[in-house]
Amino acid sequence: MDVQPFSVNDGDGIRTTIFLAGCPLRCPWCSNPEGFSQKEIIGWFRRKCIGCGACAEVCPEGIGIDLNAERDRCVTCGKCAEACPAGARAYMVRLTDAGEILEKVNRHRLFYAQSGGGVTFSGGEPVSQPEFLRYLAQNIYDMGYSMDLETTGQFDFEKVADILALMDLIFVDLKHPDKAKYLEYTGGGNERVLHNLRRMAELPAKVVVRIPVIHSVNAEEDTVRGLAALVQETLPDAAIELLPYHDFGRIKYDAIGLPYDHPEFSRPSAETMKRLKAIISEAGLEVADFR
Ligand code: SF4
Ligand code: SF4
Repeated sequence: MDVQPFSVNDGDGIRTTIFLAGCPLRCPWCSNPEGFSQKEIIGWFRRKCIGCGACAEVCPEGIGIDLNAERDRCVTCGKCAEACPAGARAYMVRLTDAGEILEKVNRHRLFYAQSGGGVTFSGGEPVSQPEFLRYLAQNIYDMGYSMDLETTGQFDFEKVADILALMDLIFVDLKHPDKAKYLEYTGGGNERVLHNLRRMAELPAKVVVRIPVIHSVNAEEDTVRGLAALVQETLPDAAIELLPYHDFGRIKYDAIGLPYDHPEFSRPSAETMKRLKAIISEAGLEVADFR
């Protein structure tokens, strides 16, 4: 999906974050919806569009300016992205190769060394491309850079234990303590995440459980108490990071023609966040904050 240099919220120091497409969950608040599948996607950013028609002129499929109206015919050839003078058409997911990613990672080695940073794998769900992730991780390990991983925790531990063992820090998303609510919101079961959290005690990595805090979903004090209790039960050495909801991804939904209609979601106040963090501390868990 992207290789983003100078990331400062995805682990220690200055990092390059590698976003890999594909995810088994469908969280309705996801800020990277282009990563739901592993298919190539061209986005149309209507606010940047100046209506010049250059995209329509070069499109071999005869698609007009409003790509979303005819998206089913797009063959993701990328000609419109090359022709667009305003950057309003762009690949949001594209095929790439490990060499290209490793070259980008290596460009910023001085920043990693000076800041204590490195590389973070994110997504989508990076573990949904295990062979590609393994190849990248082994090469970056040989380069000597620190590696972190951000994951839904939805994977077969045995199949990727060797990759996880190379990580310094693993962020595991946990959305709700209640099994039925987790399923309702994400479309997946939480059993695997909890099982994998237990297994992560075997790894050298520090684990931070990341919880997106969203009004009307999981911002109640009892819900956060429940999440803290689950972490205490499964991996008491893990820290918890509470991330207040934002809707910055809304523009991406529009760019790929997906609706984003969730007036029920809102950002908790700073006061609420403070109270919820205190609940984590009272439960005897470390509160992490990479923001
Ligand atoms: S990517 Fe190719 S097929 Fe798709 S809209 Fe652009 S020019 Fe047309
Ligand atoms: S080429 Fe770019 S700016 Fe011009 S109409 Fe197409 S999307 Fe809009």
